[in-house]
Amino acid sequence: MTMAAGVQERPNVLVVGGGNAALCAAIAARREGARVLVLEAADAFWRGGNTRHTRNMRCAHDAATESLSGPYGEEEFFDDLLRVTKGKTDEALARFMIRESKSMLGWIEEQGVRWQPSLGGTLSLGRTNSFFLGGGRAMLNALYRTAEDLGVVIRYRAEVTGLDIEDGRFRAAFIGTERVPAQALVAAAGGFESNIEWLKRHWGEAAENFLIRGTRNNMGTILKLLLENGVQEVGDPTQCHAVAIDARAPKYDGGIITRLDCVVFGIVVNQEAKRFYDEGEDIWPKRYAIWGRLVAAQPDQIAYILFDASSLELFMPSLYPPISAPTMGELAARLGLDPGALDKTVSAFNAACRPGRFDDSILDDCRTEGLDPPKSHWARPIATAPFYAYPVRPGITFTYLGVRVNDEARMLMADGRGAANMFAAGEIMAGNVLGEGYAAGIGMTIGAVFGRVAGCQAAKSARAESRLHESAS
Ligand SMILES: Cc1cc2nc3c(=O)[nH]c(=O)nc-3n(C[C@H](O)[C@H](O)[C@H](O)COP(=O)(O)OP(=O)(O)OC[C@H]3O[C@@H](n4cnc5c(N)ncnc54)[C@H](O)[C@@H]3O)c2cc1C
Repeated sequence: MTMAAGVQERPNVLVVGGGNAALCAAIAARREGARVLVLEAADAFWRGGNTRHTRNMRCAHDAATESLSGPYGEEEFFDDLLRVTKGKTDEALARFMIRESKSMLGWIEEQGVRWQPSLGGTLSLGRTNSFFLGGGRAMLNALYRTAEDLGVVIRYRAEVTGLDIEDGRFRAAFIGTERVPAQALVAAAGGFESNIEWLKRHWGEAAENFLIRGTRNNMGTILKLLLENGVQEVGDPTQCHAVAIDARAPKYDGGIITRLDCVVFGIVVNQEAKRFYDEGEDIWPKRYAIWGRLVAAQPDQIAYILFDASSLELFMPSLYPPISAPTMGELAARLGLDPGALDKTVSAFNAACRPGRFDDSILDDCRTEGLDPPKSHWARPIATAPFYAYPVRPGITFTYLGVRVNDEARMLMADGRGAANMFAAGEIMAGNVLGEGYAAGIGMTIGAVFGRVAGCQAAKSARAESRLHESAS
C-alpha cells in the first residue's frame, strides 16, 4: 500500500478546510509525526477559501526587519486589539495569541512563505503588518507545497457534510456517505459568511443584498455540526467584518480589488440622496470597517460615494471605473437618484464646509459647521467637474460566531470540559478573540497561531488515542 493510500484510509489527524488555518495545522501535525489528511471542499483551483484573498498578517515583533519598518510590541498589539474590540476579547487567549505571533514570522517563513515590504497606500501598515510576497495565493501555494512535501495528503472536492462525535469525542467525518475515521480532528472550515440563508436569520431580508468578498465555500456546515454536538458557542452571530465594496462586484470572491477606500474624500448618500454618517470621523484605517454595517442599514442596502475631480487621484481605485458626469444633475440621473434631492444634499454640504488645510494623512481642520451629520475632517466642497460616484454595498469578509477553544486550540464543550480530541483554528473560532471590530491582518494571525497549536495538540492527542487503543486490544 502507498503512503498516501494509507493516510487516506487511516489518518491520525483529520483537518477539515484548506485555508491558512488548515494548512498551518496540517504542517504542524505532520511535523509532530502524525499521518495527516486534509479535506478541502473546493477544487484545486479554488482551494484556500478566504486566505487566497489576503495580503498581510499582524505579528508582534521587537525590532524592525527587512520588511517591517519598526518594532511592534506585545502590549501595543494588545492595546490595539482592546480598542477595536471595545474590550470584547478573551484576554488570556488574546495575550497567548499575541505572544505566539512573535515566533510566527519566522515559522511561516520556514514553511516557504516569503515576505515583502508593504506597498505604500491607504492602510499604512508598514510597521505592524507583514505582507506576503505575491499575496495570499502565493502564500497558500507555499504552504500546500510544504505540506505535500512532508507527506500530508490533500483531498479536493471533499466537502464534509457530517461528523460522528460521541460525548465530545470525534470519531469520523462524512463526505456524503463516505465515512473517514481519524483519531483527532482539526476544524478549520471558516465561518458561515457564504451562507446567505444563515445570514438572513440574523440580518433579515437585507442579507440578500450582501456581497461576500471571499469564498462561496464557507457555509458554516462544520460550525453548525459542532454546535449541535455540544461544543460551546462563542460570539455574536451578527458580528462580522464588513466593508463597503463596489456594488458591481460579483456575489462571491470579488476580493480586495472591489474595496473602496475613498469615503473620506467625498460624501456618501443613500438611495434617497441623503447623507447618513460622518465620512470624516477618523483616519481611514481606523474607520473603514464600519461602512459595511452602515450601508447594510440603508434602504435596499445601497449607497453612493460622491466626489469631484480634485479627489480622483488621491486613493486606490476599485476594479471598476467610477461613474462620471459633467454635472451633478447628470450624475444623479446616471445613478437613478432624484436630482433635486441630490442637489439639495450637495449644496448643503458645500455651504457647510469651513476653509482649512487639507491633509489626508492627519485629522485635518477641514470640517463642516452646522451640518447633521457633520463631516469632521477632510471636508472640501464637491464643486470641480467632472463629478464621480461609486455605488457601494456591504461586503462581508467573515463572521465571528464560532466554537470556544482554550490555549491548546482545544474545543470546549458546553459544560466547560475540554473536548477529548477536537481542535479548531481560524475563522471558525475567531470570536474567541474578536468579540467585535477588527485590526487589519489579525485574521491570518488567528489562523496561523491557533492552526499551529491545533496541529501540534491534535497530533499529541492522536498519539494518546493510539496508545489507548493499543492497551485496550
Ligand atoms: C478580500 C479579503 C481580503 C482579506 N485580507 C486579509 C489580510 O490581508 N490579512 C488578514 O489577516 N486577513 C484578511 N482577510 C481575512 C482572512 O482571509 C481570513 O481571516 C483567513 O483567511 C481565515 O483563514 P481560515 O483558514 O480560517 O479560513 P479560509 O481561508 O476561508 O479557509 C476555510 C476553508 O474551509 C473550506 N471548507 C469550508 N467548509 C468546508 C467543509 N464542509 N468541508 C471541507 N472544507 C470546507 C473552504 O473551502 C476553505 O478552504 C481577508 C478576507 C477577504 C475575503
